[in-house]
Amino acid sequence: MSLKSIAKLSLAWPFISFYWARQKAEQHWVNKCKKWNLPPDVGQVARLSILPLIDWYAARDGLATEPGVSYLVKTDSSTILFDLGYNKLKEHPSPLLRNMGSLGVGFEDIDTIVISHPHADHIGGDINQLKRTFSPSSRPVDLSRQAIFLPPGMSHPDYNTMQVVRPIKIAKGVISTGPIYSAQFILGNTLFPMGITPEQALVVDVKSKGVVIIVGCGHQGLPRILELVDQLFKKPIYGIIGGLHFPVTGSRMTALDGKLQVQRHFGTGKLPWRPITKQEVLSNISALKSYNPSIVSLSAHDSCDWSIDAFKDAFGPGYRDLKVGQEIKISSRSKK
Ligand SMILES: [Zn+2]
Ligand SMILES: [Zn+2]
Repeated sequence: MSLKSIAKLSLAWPFISFYWARQKAEQHWVNKCKKWNLPPDVGQVARLSILPLIDWYAARDGLATEPGVSYLVKTDSSTILFDLGYNKLKEHPSPLLRNMGSLGVGFEDIDTIVISHPHADHIGGDINQLKRTFSPSSRPVDLSRQAIFLPPGMSHPDYNTMQVVRPIKIAKGVISTGPIYSAQFILGNTLFPMGITPEQALVVDVKSKGVVIIVGCGHQGLPRILELVDQLFKKPIYGIIGGLHFPVTGSRMTALDGKLQVQRHFGTGKLPWRPITKQEVLSNISALKSYNPSIVSLSAHDSCDWSIDAFKDAFGPGYRDLKVGQEIKISSRSKK
């Protein structure tokens, strides 16, 4: 192969991998996700609380914030750590560990860890993304007592983990949706071959309320998440909490001294020069409205303030701020 054709191929490579990934993601959706059923004996919970441990905004001073996600999901019978934050500066203790300390949460309280998808802001940093693994801090933390559920392609050298390839029961009343695949336009990152991102969400069935969806980055696309959860449970969607990737007017994660708005141009499922539009956010909002959820809470780690305001306007009192240290509680006995 001549130098010229190598140069041409390397320029074309991101496009080839993007369109190939799109094709694969579509096939996975049609041939796998659309055929999935609810796993047996999921059960229900009476109480659910979601405590953000890492996100963009905090409820009070003294809590660390990052363009990343980690939520403590507690039910009457289990405590699940959903994602592990970003730890961009490779600190120990990481922002996640420091917030856990401030909020009185220890790993001895956690029985299960679920990773939504293999992006740096959910698995504890860029190095982990390169190695397709995860860590809550830059020095080892003992996770030998937790059950660990990962998306396809991830593992950990020290712990027994399970790769989730279809909907499975995580704990009583809690399932993983299984991974929905999406295409990502990738430059210079050869570690996720062909630019496919598998992402799983949690769904909790709360007695007398309906199901509550907890999402990491939302690369799956809101309509697909809703469709899959509806297909699995055939129950009212009571709430949705987490990241949905609507960086329309700006991006929390930047590179090149703030000049490159990472989330606005990458991870959108579109080509980088075609960011998500306001119109697309509004049409996603009306798709969500058709399910009539009682609680909606959008993570600011991958959505801009314009999108958050649009959600606030659309859902009024049903909208809850998503802030580190501020628990969202749902109980089968509460009136609303
Ligand atoms: Zn992501
Ligand atoms: Zn994210």
